[in-house]
Amino acid sequence: MRPLSLAADIELSAVVPIYNEEGSLGELHRRLTAVLEPMGIRYELILVDDGSRDRTPELIAELCRSDPRVRGVHFSRNFGHQAALAAGLQHAQGRAVVVLDADLQDPPELIPQLVARWREGFQVVYAQRRHRSRESWTKRAAAFLFYRTLRRITRFEIPADTGDFCLMDRAVVDLLNEMPERNRYVRGLRAWVGFRQTAVPFDRPPRYAGEPKYTFAGSFGLAVNGILALSKFPLRVATYFGLIVSAASFLLAIWYVVQRAIGNEDLVRGWASTIVVILFLGGVQLLTIGIIGEYLSRIYDEVKQRPLFVVRERVGFGPQPARSELDAATRFTAAE
Ligand code: UDP
Ligand code: MG
Repeated sequence: MRPLSLAADIELSAVVPIYNEEGSLGELHRRLTAVLEPMGIRYELILVDDGSRDRTPELIAELCRSDPRVRGVHFSRNFGHQAALAAGLQHAQGRAVVVLDADLQDPPELIPQLVARWREGFQVVYAQRRHRSRESWTKRAAAFLFYRTLRRITRFEIPADTGDFCLMDRAVVDLLNEMPERNRYVRGLRAWVGFRQTAVPFDRPPRYAGEPKYTFAGSFGLAVNGILALSKFPLRVATYFGLIVSAASFLLAIWYVVQRAIGNEDLVRGWASTIVVILFLGGVQLLTIGIIGEYLSRIYDEVKQRPLFVVRERVGFGPQPARSELDAATRFTAAE
């Protein structure tokens, strides 16, 4: 898929998903410029406004006016971080694309290091958190558990303690753009594509301004999505449960028959164990149906073929591309 305007020979695109970040945007632009300008390369900043309700859209418009390297993509409503990321990747034109958060938790000062590794021949260079000391212990424990589980149940390497902060080569970005799935867990897809990947360690600073947009429930949802998008293991767990329970009940049945045969008349006393078994089986069945339902709902999402996001407006991309070009370049938008 070709990017919207084919004008430039852009070396690097920085993609930033943004939701209500009026407090950070100015500083973000200042620091990105301070880092990228001295590198002496052609670059662009793709700011994806994920349906912000504060002054973010106006601030992006202002930046677009004052800096021709800034481009804004505005969603029609909040579609979520991963959708904003996908939009940014589709609009980026650079030979390499850096993805970073708007709240400056992904320090722009790391970009030269990411670029250096890319020039050494790595197609994916992800930033890896050295320690998470500033986060609450619950978040740390959850993250620890999540990454270890994910690593065990997938067949490709998903590095622990990485976020979306990374640099990707054009080849990888094109692949991600061509992946049709709606349920996009970018970290997982990025690992799935393979190629040569490497890590650059960094310390994650606290948020520059504003409130975190991810609640615990939001992060949990992302984690569940990640596991279900990358692995069929939970379905297999359901199968194993079924096997184990069936085997156990078969043995139990034999045991009862034997008791009968040797004349044990006290079997009626076993009602407590019967209740336990029934409740247990009921639980296992509900759990299993739940797991199947999770996959089914995702299949439903894919089958619906709805666009991943709807773009309300694009700013700073130069003259509006011809309709056909737009259709081709925004397969996932309302233009579809
Ligand atoms: N974000 C977004 N859409 C959302 C929620 C978040 O584009 O619905 C952006 C947000 O503006 C920020 C990035 O995603 O640039 C990460 O969000 P946040 O800092 O809240 O997450 P955390 O750092 O806690 O993982
Ligand atoms: Mg953050």
